[in-house]
Amino acid sequence: MSAHDPNCIFCKIAQGKIPSRKVYEDEDILAFHDINPWAPVHFLMIPKLHIASLAQAEPEHEAVLGRMMVLAPKLALQEGCRPYPEGGFRLQINTGADGRQEVHHMHVHVIGGPRPWAKG
Ligand code: AMP
Ligand code: ZN
Repeated sequence: MSAHDPNCIFCKIAQGKIPSRKVYEDEDILAFHDINPWAPVHFLMIPKLHIASLAQAEPEHEAVLGRMMVLAPKLALQEGCRPYPEGGFRLQINTGADGRQEVHHMHVHVIGGPRPWAKG
């Protein structure tokens, strides 16, 4: 699999070809605000490498996916989620049609902040 899919909107965001409101960036991971937030905190975390969905995750992706899990709580606090246990957040990885995945570049929704939320 190539690192980027030329037709993928999140690959274009990862490469800076489409602008995003960045939350975090390193060599392998980008986090940016969801364009259509449904909670006070709603950002997306992506591997810069094109992985179409979680269903395509392989052992070679374990390191980057693990790093995303460990990074998520830190970025959630930075973006305004209250600390655990009173606060917290929700991670969501929509996968495939039944999972209501719309963008086929694997991404983690990080959702939180004071309720009520528009959904979830
Ligand atoms: P899903 O694939 O169902 O997890 O949904 C894709 C998410 O990406 C939706 O919440 C969209 O609002 C969000 N989204 C789509 N395009 C952009 C963009 N250019 N910048 C930020 N978020 C986006
Ligand atoms: Zn992509």
